[in-house]
Amino acid sequence: MTSSPIDAFIENDDEIVGLLGREWHRQLSTLQLIASENFTSPSVMAATGSILTNKYAEGYPGRRYYGGNLIVDEIEDLARHRLCHLFGADHANVQPHSGANANVAVYQALLEPGDTILALRLDQGGHLTHGSPASMTSKIWNFVSYGVTERTDDPANPGEHIDFDNVRALALEHRPKLIIAGATAYTRRIDPVIFREIADEVGALLMFDSAHVAGLIAGGSHPNPVPYADVVTFTTHKTLRGPRGGAILCREEHAKKIDMAVFPGQQGGPLEHVIAAKAVAFKEAAQPSFGVYTNQIVANARAFAAALSDQGFRTVSGGTDNHMVILDLRDFDAELTGKVAQEVLDIAGITTNRNQIPYDPRSPFITSGLRVGTAAQTTAGMTEGEFATIASLMATALRGRVDEAVLAGVREDVAALCANFNPYARFVK
Ligand SMILES: *Cc1c(COP(=O)(O)O)cnc(C)c1O
Repeated sequence: MTSSPIDAFIENDDEIVGLLGREWHRQLSTLQLIASENFTSPSVMAATGSILTNKYAEGYPGRRYYGGNLIVDEIEDLARHRLCHLFGADHANVQPHSGANANVAVYQALLEPGDTILALRLDQGGHLTHGSPASMTSKIWNFVSYGVTERTDDPANPGEHIDFDNVRALALEHRPKLIIAGATAYTRRIDPVIFREIADEVGALLMFDSAHVAGLIAGGSHPNPVPYADVVTFTTHKTLRGPRGGAILCREEHAKKIDMAVFPGQQGGPLEHVIAAKAVAFKEAAQPSFGVYTNQIVANARAFAAALSDQGFRTVSGGTDNHMVILDLRDFDAELTGKVAQEVLDIAGITTNRNQIPYDPRSPFITSGLRVGTAAQTTAGMTEGEFATIASLMATALRGRVDEAVLAGVREDVAALCANFNPYARFVK
């Protein structure tokens, strides 16, 4: 098995077919622990590779700027309808090419340049589009950042949770027009009710960026922010397990502005092949089996966090409520940086990403932390026992990181484990 069945349709391009074959092998013979990744179903992949990639469809169903969109309109309407139904929302926009585009479109729809936005600090789990100096968002809007509480030594109250006193104090001081809840590196359940209360106290709009946890919400494993937030943005490719892309849900009163901000405000023609794949993923996420999957993601992450702390790592915030675990590597080995850990684990066949921890003394390029997630390998069928094994393989590789034989041995064990949990085994012989 050297490539996916879809690759067989590529003619006269041995270079790309060869590279796809190598990537197929990489994804299926090494562990995918990047918290923002997943294995889509073959149905999602096939829709992404469908004939719809040929079609131009600027505009929205019933209001296109090009002819020939009768069927495309039905497809986009089906995607929007399925998405509204999945989250109980008034209105859905399924055109954002990515989560970042979705966020910027919301700012453009609801704010004027220079308006203030209150969001989570980047070095404590916020996203680039939440006001990073490197992101154009910080040049157009005025970002103020809230943080997490300080770490404590009390296991019952470990700290590193969103500091709602800080959120409220900053909201009262700066009177933001928009408050953002949601994160890219944060392991705790985010309560939409408290954010709504604070937004109401200061007359702000509330956006919930559920990029990471959208699947957990769809599966019923996390609280649904839709009843509380004015707007909910997310990516379709993380825990939601769809094609790469973004989407926006909003209250009816914001629908027109949001649609105008996505097109023509931000983007040109929508990717209707990806929208068809989003529709497929939304249908999959509405099945009862998806809730079983997302509950298993969380159970696996909890077991993984416990096994990693048994190996001597400190887990930021004392554990996890979602699909990710953030490790403070300093307790395991004061010399070990996130950068080196990521590189060593790559050699050992374990794919992760370095990540800053709250109040990290090291730079974002080096870091003292590592982020891991369970969504992809849970799709592949792994449960708590496998994640305990992975924790032990990670510790072995990192302890023996100067010894090539140790790393090669871990890589072999990883490949043997992955061979038993191939997410596409049912479809490819
Ligand atoms: C991943 C992520 C995004 C952006 O998604 P892209 O599709 O990579 O643009 C936005 N917000 C949060 C919180 C994220 O985690």
